[in-house]
Amino acid sequence: MSIEIKYVTLGLAQTNAYLVADTETNDAILIDPVDQAELLLKLATDAGWTIKLILATHAHFDHVLASAALKELTGAPFYIHSEAVPMLKNLPQTGLRFVGQLYPEAAEPDRLLTTESETITLGAIQLETLYTPGHAPGHLAFYMRDQDIVFSGDALFAGSVGRTDLPGSSWAVLERSIFDKLLTLPDQTRVLSGHGAMTTIGRERQTNPFLI
Ligand SMILES: [Zn+2]
Ligand SMILES: [Zn+2]
Repeated sequence: MSIEIKYVTLGLAQTNAYLVADTETNDAILIDPVDQAELLLKLATDAGWTIKLILATHAHFDHVLASAALKELTGAPFYIHSEAVPMLKNLPQTGLRFVGQLYPEAAEPDRLLTTESETITLGAIQLETLYTPGHAPGHLAFYMRDQDIVFSGDALFAGSVGRTDLPGSSWAVLERSIFDKLLTLPDQTRVLSGHGAMTTIGRERQTNPFLI
């Protein structure tokens, strides 16, 4: 049994999309359908992987722009937190603000994730949902405990944290999410975030200027 991860950085906001594959079955989960569905699909097919599930950490446009197109191309179901749905539905209007034209509709969620931690399983891949709001409503991180990896979305970055000056965001809420759900993970946990480079929980606990 082994797990492999690939990522690509795309779009206006240079957002990271992650592919997590079980290399026995070659089935994969795509975390954050950020942009350019064909390119995300190619990343999987070039590796011989099939995208079986699409997850979103939150509904900011740069994380879900390709959700409908990728769902269409792969037939994979799309999961997001229930509290992210109003923002998800508002995706077309967001385009007016950023590119002066409507963005496409987002994918219809096939399952709404909840505030309780639950485990999403695909073959050998096990992702625990961590409810981490504050940057955006219904924000989730996905924790792969047996691999010591957390996909932190836009809650925690190398040397930084998610913006809290946006509609529906709050520093007080984000701070609690980070301290209660992320910094409680083991120091060696690798943090793969929505933007920027990889880090570890230990390094952020000791050096992140927003957290010390
Ligand atoms: Zn965001
Ligand atoms: Zn983002």
